[in-house]
Amino acid sequence: MNKPVDRPLRVGIIGGGIGGVALSRALMLRGIECHVFERAAAFGEVGAGVQMTPNGVKVLRALGLADPLAKVGFLPQAMVGRNWRSARELFRTPLKGHCPELYGADFYHVHRADLHAILSSHLEKGGATLGVRCVSVRDEGDKSVAVFDDGTEYEADLIVGADGLRSVVRDALWGAETAKFTGHMCWRALVPVDKFPLPYVSPDSSFWMGPHGHLVTYYVNGGKSVNIVAVNESKDWVEESWNKPSSREELMAAYEGWHPNIIELFSRTENVYKWGLFDRDPMTAWSKGRITLLGDAAHPMLPFLSQGAAMAIEDGYVLAEALAKYGRDIPAALKAYEIERLPRTSRVQLEARERGRTYHLPSPWAQFKRDLAYRWREWMNPNAVGIQANWVYAYDATTCAERFGKTAPVQKAVTA
Ligand SMILES: Cc1cc2nc3c(=O)[nH]c(=O)nc-3n(C[C@H](O)[C@H](O)[C@H](O)COP(=O)(O)OP(=O)(O)OC[C@H]3O[C@@H](n4cnc5c(N)ncnc54)[C@H](O)[C@@H]3O)c2cc1C
Repeated sequence: MNKPVDRPLRVGIIGGGIGGVALSRALMLRGIECHVFERAAAFGEVGAGVQMTPNGVKVLRALGLADPLAKVGFLPQAMVGRNWRSARELFRTPLKGHCPELYGADFYHVHRADLHAILSSHLEKGGATLGVRCVSVRDEGDKSVAVFDDGTEYEADLIVGADGLRSVVRDALWGAETAKFTGHMCWRALVPVDKFPLPYVSPDSSFWMGPHGHLVTYYVNGGKSVNIVAVNESKDWVEESWNKPSSREELMAAYEGWHPNIIELFSRTENVYKWGLFDRDPMTAWSKGRITLLGDAAHPMLPFLSQGAAMAIEDGYVLAEALAKYGRDIPAALKAYEIERLPRTSRVQLEARERGRTYHLPSPWAQFKRDLAYRWREWMNPNAVGIQANWVYAYDATTCAERFGKTAPVQKAVTA
């Protein structure tokens, strides 16, 4: 008979991005031992904003982060769809003051570095090793092992690949498969506005929709900067890297002819970065033995529903709850995790792709029909989110334990 193991459950997390640190915090709160391994020498990244929608905020609150989030976040008044050339409003969905009642939490805009800092504040006391790259993982039946580029190994009851779009853990489990370039690239930039306010940038989540492209502007840093995500269709992404420095001139040239407010905002940018947007098809399983995936490693998606970080945070919470419930029964915990998370993340992946098509319609007739549909839906229900994301925001990962052991409701996926 196997001797019972008397040491606490131990989890190794590969990747200290948003999903990895969210999982680590959720495990820490449940007294489950874990360690994060991050290849970067320091936490931090290219300045960019993140829309943290109510579904993500519910988890952040359950992780004890409501106050720090309120300090660094910005509450947008509304989500507003606009015509690229005329700035005419296509829809206006009220957010500030409405989301708590509708979805149980606020809708925030945050700087990604601020979000990462609050999610990882517990790691100041240890619990993470930086500057180590995982090169492979293996399952040994009674334990799993992560191998690093410095030759060291880490043994755990469970290894979680939270190592992003180009996940080594995913390749080791399911075979290497190149992420697909989606035919979209985007520019990201932040414009500081605390010294020179820009009255024409409204305090909303503004979606400007044009032929073959769209862009989103919103305030972050508690209102001190405007974040720009400008997406364009593009046949090829010739760069090896998936992001690279660009320039204000290149950005302005790509949006020539768009509304003067956009051009004026772009003229204030300094550090502009260009990204190729890649994704993968939904998977049917993420886990093998004592190894699983989380966040972009499991379900990379286009940012058109603003959900990649929120999905990674939800994953982290649900996985920690499953481990707290099933303890050393890792297969049961991973089964509960996948039943809860796979249908939802697959649907978000596919619907995010679909939004790319709706936002970028090239023909005036198709745009007219789309804009009429926005108006009709708004007339039927003023709270219906213009980008049709009510179902995304309504979900509450923090109640997942009530659903463990039951079959997940079938979620109809939109075919891509
Ligand atoms: C243009 C754009 C806009 C976006 N806007 C939003 C938004 O508004 N809202 C939202 O919710 N999401 C948004 N996202 C998506 C979001 O940024 C990602 O989905 C999210 O960061 C995924 O988190 P993650 O932890 O899974 O992966 P990542 O954040 O990519 O973290 C992975 C980590 O693993 C590390 N790593 C990788 N390989 C290894 C290795 N071999 N060994 C050790 N460490 C490793 C990396 O260095 C990194 O720190 C946007 C994305 C883009 C591109």
